[in-house]
Amino acid sequence: MEKDCLFCKISHGQMKTDLLFENDHLVVFRDINPHAPVHLLIVPKRHIRSINDLTESDNRILAEMIMTARQMAKKEKVNVSGYKLLFNVEKGGGQVIFHLHLHLIGGWDK
Ligand code: AMP
Ligand code: ZN
Repeated sequence: MEKDCLFCKISHGQMKTDLLFENDHLVVFRDINPHAPVHLLIVPKRHIRSINDLTESDNRILAEMIMTARQMAKKEKVNVSGYKLLFNVEKGGGQVIFHLHLHLIGGWDK
C-alpha cells in the first residue's frame, strides 16, 4: 500500500466510500465525477501504477477486473444497452490517479 495514494486508501477502508462490491483482490465504487449515468471504477487492492506496470503475474487480476466489470454491468442493468470499459494510461492518456483502475461507463439510455 502506498501512503499517499487515494485508491489505496479507499480500497483498504481508510477513506469512507460506498463500495458496490468488494472481495480479497478488488473493490468497485462510483466515480465521484460521473461522465455518464453509470460510471463505476474497478480497482485492485494492490497498488499498481498503470497498465504500463503490469507483468505476466498480473494476468489474473486483470482478468478478474474485466469479469467483475461484466458482472457490475449486469447489476447496473447496462449490459444489454451497452457500455464502455476504459483504462486511461499515464498523463497523456488522461490518467490522473496513478493506481490502476478500470472505468465502466454506460446507461445513456436511462
Ligand atoms: P483517471 O483519469 O483514469 O485517473 O480517473 C480517475 C477517476 O477517479 C476520475 O474519473 C475521478 O472522477 C475519480 N475520482 C477521484 N477521486 C475520487 C473519489 N474520492 N471517489 C470516487 N472517484 C474518484
Ligand atoms: Zn495505490
